[in-house]
Amino acid sequence: MQCERCHQNIATGEQHEHLGQILCEDCYMEVLSPVITCDPWAVHSAKTFEREHRGRVELTETQQQILAVLKASGAIRPGDLAARLHLRPSDLERELATLRHMEKTRGELRNGQRYVILW
Ligand SMILES: [Zn+2]
Repeated sequence: MQCERCHQNIATGEQHEHLGQILCEDCYMEVLSPVITCDPWAVHSAKTFEREHRGRVELTETQQQILAVLKASGAIRPGDLAARLHLRPSDLERELATLRHMEKTRGELRNGQRYVILW
């Protein structure tokens, strides 16, 4: 089964249905999150994302830092990652959403805890 939003494979039983679409955990959280839809920066980064996808992809400094931490430590919980980089959790989630769509990072559940890992 595939997520209809990001086309990631979804394990059976982990899919979510939203407005008739089958979504993965991450996309489901995203579409349900009012923070992202109400945040002007989300619109900004979505536009940035569109532009980058037509041309070359450029990572922001924060995104590079996230990737550097992941390369050094492997899996890390979003809360720990936010603390390490002195980011607000909502800011981190936005960066992670962008990185996920660039296929740089993805989320993984381990023992019921959400971890961020390299794609
Ligand atoms: Zn998805």
